[in-house]
Amino acid sequence: MKKTNGYVIYENHRLVVIATGFTRKSANRKTGNMIQIWILVKAQNPVKAVLTGLDEIICGDCPFRGEICYVNVGQAPLAIHKTWLNGGYGYAGTFDNKTGEWIPDKAMLARLFSGASTRFGAYGDPVNIPLPIVKRIADHSANWTGYTHQWRAINNQAYREYFMASTDTEEQKITAHEMSWRSFRVIDDGENPSDGEIVCPNYTHGVQCADCGMCKGKGSKAKSIVITAHGSKKKKFSKVRDYVSNPLDNMNPTQKIIGERLMEKQNNK
Ligand code: SF4
Repeated sequence: MKKTNGYVIYENHRLVVIATGFTRKSANRKTGNMIQIWILVKAQNPVKAVLTGLDEIICGDCPFRGEICYVNVGQAPLAIHKTWLNGGYGYAGTFDNKTGEWIPDKAMLARLFSGASTRFGAYGDPVNIPLPIVKRIADHSANWTGYTHQWRAINNQAYREYFMASTDTEEQKITAHEMSWRSFRVIDDGENPSDGEIVCPNYTHGVQCADCGMCKGKGSKAKSIVITAHGSKKKKFSKVRDYVSNPLDNMNPTQKIIGERLMEKQNNK
């Protein structure tokens, strides 16, 4: 059987999770060659899903979804969604459209990820992947990375064994540590890591994520990680900091409506 570059590793009625990089190596200079896991809305392509707000299905309440997100949805996510629609990927499991149940092919997952370096959530929040599938993949990967903005949610606490809490301020980092997560955050040029944090070795020694293994939640005993915003990332970082301070002022109209609803929900709790 011809090997494809990607496999569906999970699916439900609303989203599909696709792992790519089995025949074509990824060329990302920071991460190195890793299997990339993409979490995509099924009903709309990623560009449209951002415009309509349906990306909430895969990003949850991540404050950066849409315009501020580091991922350019018009590039790889759009192409992968199209290839999936055209039946271009294999399946590491079976989806029952009637019941909405996904039955993973555990032997195939073991084969696909054996010895791999895996990047959970190249786009989309990896807590959308059921924990047993995350565990299976992590157990067989030589290394992995994963980050979630949904680390406060009560149902997501078991994911701290595998993923880092994405935090945007030092206060959030402290809360994440109190909740037993290891954390990951971006700091400004010239800013030092605070208690319990170290600088990502990619910035200090050129180590690539594929070989590092420090951003895998409690799977690593290392301190929490910070990276420094510089170059093109610096502009994005300022936007992120600005956003965290004034979330509603910095949203596009669709995000603003959703943001206001979320805040209303939180205030009513
Ligand atoms: S600490 Fe390691 S795994 Fe995390 S971002 Fe830096 S190089 Fe990648």
